[in-house]
Amino acid sequence: MHDLGFSELVATLAADGVILHHAKVLWRVLHRDGELDLAARNFLPPLKRWVVNSVGEGKKFFLDAPEVVDEIRSTDGLTRKFLLRLRDGQTIETVLMGYDGRHTVCVSTQAGCAMGCVFCATGQMGFVRHLRPGEIVAQVLHVRRVLKSIDPTKRIRNMVLMGMGEPLHNYDSVMQALGSISNVGGASIGPTKISISTVGVVPAILRLAEEQRPYRLAVSLHGSTEEERSALVPASKKWSLAMLIDACRKYGEVTGKRIFFEWTLIAGKNDSPETAHRLAKLLEGIDAHINLIPLNPTNGFSGTESHTGHEFQKILIAAGFPCTFRQRRGIDVAAGCGMLKAEKRVKSAR
Ligand code: SAH
Ligand code: SF4
Repeated sequence: MHDLGFSELVATLAADGVILHHAKVLWRVLHRDGELDLAARNFLPPLKRWVVNSVGEGKKFFLDAPEVVDEIRSTDGLTRKFLLRLRDGQTIETVLMGYDGRHTVCVSTQAGCAMGCVFCATGQMGFVRHLRPGEIVAQVLHVRRVLKSIDPTKRIRNMVLMGMGEPLHNYDSVMQALGSISNVGGASIGPTKISISTVGVVPAILRLAEEQRPYRLAVSLHGSTEEERSALVPASKKWSLAMLIDACRKYGEVTGKRIFFEWTLIAGKNDSPETAHRLAKLLEGIDAHINLIPLNPTNGFSGTESHTGHEFQKILIAAGFPCTFRQRRGIDVAAGCGMLKAEKRVKSAR
């Protein structure tokens, strides 16, 4: 059911003779309340009949209700990471993060990822499949239910597409899901509070600009030359650094929006002062915010020492760029995205 956008839900019910009022009720129950047991709701007879006839195993529609396989809580109690099992048995990760009174959900957009970044646990697993819109929406609804059970006065106000997978490799499903998630009758996360993080799928970045999508764009850069970047991000053999920066310039011109550049600091690979100077030069003229991410060690790579990271940051700030370190609180649980699944695999293989 969660694959359908609002107008599709209205049209579906209308085709079966159910009026708009009932469709709105059903939308709110599904997307705002995140109800998983429709039979328990007191719908008026026309809607009740439609639900009984149309929703359930073996019927036209089903509810996306991922099963929690594993949950890890941070020692500060503010971050919870969920390993969720989908209907076909695939597992994905979703994270609830809470700091400074703000709550953020981090969702997956694919099972696995085709981009193969060498330092990323998800990339090393390879691509399994795209998630449907309903599977993306269901992650947000899960986290909202959890937060409600902890503190009913709190709401999820921010969303990042930084879980497993490359969101712009699954463009249509991601856009469909974000439309539902930002709908004011549903989870109602403001579109400007939703960040799409991409490894740099150039045609899709241009499409976001053309379609004037209201979301924030974060670009995972990690390299200041073609060589430096393609050693870490194999996708840049297809979409070169030059093409990517060009697309970012166009995106900035067309939308007038700031772009967030993510930079995972990896010891000896992309953390030298020369690299920082080259990065500043590369981004010249772009309204950019640089977000430095401490590496969660995987695959033999180690993170940059803190003083080296701070030197790197200083150079970028001196060049005029806002440059911050990604919040590390709660990271004790989270490790890198994809790492929980990787760990679970190792455990079950033992
Ligand atoms: N595929 C998208 C979004 C998911 S990855 C992208 O690459 O942007 C989200 C972020 O986590 C990216 O910036 C990615 O570079 C970063 N990341 C991946 N593996 C990491 C690791 N081991 N340590 C720290 N950050 C990592
Ligand atoms: Fe995919 Fe992002 Fe991981 Fe790269 S960093 S492999 S694009 S999930």
